[in-house]
Amino acid sequence: MATEIKRIDLSRDYQAHKEEYIKAIESVCEETAFSGGKYADRFDEEFAAFVGTGYAAGVNNGTSALHLAMLALGVGPGDEVIVPANTYIATAWGVSYTGATPVFADCTADTWEIDPVSVEQKITERTKGIIGVHLYGQPFAYNEIKKIADKHGLFVVEDCAQAHNALYEGRQVGSLGELGCFSFYPGKNLYAFGEGGSITTDNKEYFDHITRLKNQGCDVRYYHDEIGYNMRLEGVQGAVLSVSLKYLKEWTAKRETIGERYLREIANPLITMQAHPENTRPVYHLFVITVPDHEDFVRYMADKGIECNMHYPVPCHLQKAYAHLGYRVGDCPNAEYLASHCVTLPLFPEMREDEVSRVIEACNEYRR
Ligand SMILES: *Cc1c(COP(=O)(O)O)cnc(C)c1O
Repeated sequence: MATEIKRIDLSRDYQAHKEEYIKAIESVCEETAFSGGKYADRFDEEFAAFVGTGYAAGVNNGTSALHLAMLALGVGPGDEVIVPANTYIATAWGVSYTGATPVFADCTADTWEIDPVSVEQKITERTKGIIGVHLYGQPFAYNEIKKIADKHGLFVVEDCAQAHNALYEGRQVGSLGELGCFSFYPGKNLYAFGEGGSITTDNKEYFDHITRLKNQGCDVRYYHDEIGYNMRLEGVQGAVLSVSLKYLKEWTAKRETIGERYLREIANPLITMQAHPENTRPVYHLFVITVPDHEDFVRYMADKGIECNMHYPVPCHLQKAYAHLGYRVGDCPNAEYLASHCVTLPLFPEMREDEVSRVIEACNEYRR
């Protein structure tokens, strides 16, 4: 059957706010503020205010945000940084780019977020810090991770790429750890018309260093104080993001309505859903479930015209790119279980009520 309900459909947002987006892009063109510049700077200020940090440094994508965060924290060859095995691979790339080694911790069996017990077991004298990921839009157990970090003198960085506007004990994610790393890849809860990212922090020293690094290593043009990168946010992306940011809370509320309906109305003993601890407000970036046979389930949904996919079919510690680290099946059992049983249901702010109902119905009618 042809796909009738897509996993995600960005065109509905574009059609709804087209004039505003085009006008914003036009201003950048009129002023030729293409790389960095007025519109990128303005978005940085707005985004820092939204997250509640003193600073936000816009960058060219979320992977760069993680990379620059590691450099600002002095991570380099010989160091280890603990990251969850169940995440998008870019969380680990940021560590690897510096010459340091990512060390993979398992996730918990119910929240599917980084497991503090596993983190503590992975600490060695080379460990410099921990990157927690607010995966699928669900904040990880920050207080528990922070307690371990403080005990061992480690930093905590938040990977917020999937969790814009999520709350942990009433605070916006990205304002908790030393640094918060965001992605604005199309399809994230807040997204650019291309690539984009940001690093949030209250620490001016980190902010200044990141600003220099993303800008070819210079504070004063043509004077390069260290080896830098070209990782600036484009003006067009800043302008588009300023428009989108105004709608983020509305989008979050819509995601919440859909996510809560799924949680309430999907009742099938074959389907397990993510646990959402009381002290968090998730933003349902991805609505992931587990089923006994995920390939069969995805086929079943496709037959009903409903597109589903999987986040993620291979856990980071078993990716070919990290084969040299010597991990084996069984090292992170919860992450491995998730990888081989996960399915992501359609969820995006503009999904209509009848579409949500159809997904729920299909889930409830599923039999093996
Ligand atoms: C999307 C994502 C990234 C990478 O962001 P890009 O903008 O695509 O480079 C990093 N971490 C997580 C958890 C992500 O989902």
